[in-house]
Amino acid sequence: MNEFSVIEKYFKALTMGHAGTAGLLDDAAVLSITEGHELVVTSDTLNEGVHFLDGELPENVARKALRVNLSDLASMGATPLCYQLNIAFPNKPEEEWLADFSAALLLDNKRYDIFCSGGDTTSIKGGKLSVSITAMGVVPKGRAVRRTGAKVGDTIVITGGVGDAALGLKLLMAGDMSEPSYQAAIDRYLLPDPRVGMEALLQEYVNASADISDGLFADCMHIAKASSLGVEIDFGALKFSKAVIEAVENGAISMEEAARGGDDYELILAVSSDKLEVLLGELGKYHLNPMVIGSFTESTLKLYINGTGSYRIDVISQGWQHF
Ligand code: ADP
Ligand code: MG
Repeated sequence: MNEFSVIEKYFKALTMGHAGTAGLLDDAAVLSITEGHELVVTSDTLNEGVHFLDGELPENVARKALRVNLSDLASMGATPLCYQLNIAFPNKPEEEWLADFSAALLLDNKRYDIFCSGGDTTSIKGGKLSVSITAMGVVPKGRAVRRTGAKVGDTIVITGGVGDAALGLKLLMAGDMSEPSYQAAIDRYLLPDPRVGMEALLQEYVNASADISDGLFADCMHIAKASSLGVEIDFGALKFSKAVIEAVENGAISMEEAARGGDDYELILAVSSDKLEVLLGELGKYHLNPMVIGSFTESTLKLYINGTGSYRIDVISQGWQHF
């Protein structure tokens, strides 16, 4: 099966029949967006052995590649539109692999109301599998939620708990499935659940946001840096899942590792005090577990973490302070 029959057989359906893609028979897609809107564009690449384990299931690679991009769009307050799918294969792909990969993407296309606008299919000699997605979303002009918009005194809200994905990765590496609740943590790592669908809320109530891909502290710092602010986090306000609490008790992970770990794909939101209550009420409608965990402060690039006494943590990176 050559490259073009792969595209025809497995990728064409991902266009969901959108006319601008011309059934992937043209050199490029022609896209239109609603008047008065802007295009929000983001890319993420997943490389075998770096971003996913060697030999990972095709459906997991497919969904993670798309969903990490959707998380970036969600954080910007953008509504998903379409994506470009770029794959470099180390070997001629098996048809079964392609079938599972494209079937998983098709399901997510429907779930998130997005279509594939095209891509590139290449081979990579002596390398490993690489899947890169560039996703595009739309936002009313001037309403994109940037990292730069946080203000002194803004409350930091996260849309849900952190630590499960970090635990999941650790368990996966260790091959440890001893507790039933651990499977949920592993799923959390393998299959991000991007906070798509709350764009209007973000546009209206949020000054700045970032998704938690690098880790809660690091991503709070990304907003702080972009907004020239500092961060104060109340460590005691972080509520961990049952799986994380169990794992901490068993010594499988430390509280700090759980808090610091990445891949949770919840959103960090900077919210001014007059909008906080309404936003929390609205977030409650999404069956999320939002938490108020701190605030943005005046000092530039300082992260203070207020411990609970029982869990004191050290912030290792230079220049960061804690008490
Ligand atoms: P070539 O690389 O020979 O120029 P193109 O890159 O033009 O071929 O690909 C032909 C068409 O197939 C284009 O419309 C392109 O967007 C689409 N396409 C190629 N690879 C993929 C892919 N992995 N997923 C979706 N569409 C793809
Ligand atoms: Mg090409």
